[in-house]
Amino acid sequence: MAKKILKATFENRCNGCELCVLEVQRQLERVGLTDSPIRILRDSSKSTVYFHVEIDPSVNNLNIKEVIKVCPTSVFEIIEEEDEDLYIS
Ligand code: SF4
Repeated sequence: MAKKILKATFENRCNGCELCVLEVQRQLERVGLTDSPIRILRDSSKSTVYFHVEIDPSVNNLNIKEVIKVCPTSVFEIIEEEDEDLYIS
């Protein structure tokens, strides 16, 4: 069976607002940004500020459609990945 995976396909659009982080923390009933399965890392080593979206696979156990909805710049998409366990003989 194919598994649905959250992917930051359009990471270059990220503005660093961290609404996605707050959404996953809300779903996990956590306060604050610590230990979130999504982390936004600021990279100012280039002439323009760039944000890297780091995603832990555990996020795929959450409601990832809601994560997509909160992002104002449409960074994410859901891709389908085959479940590798099915191919172990
Ligand atoms: S919600 Fe979207 S724009 Fe905001 S930090 Fe997350 S990925 Fe970046």
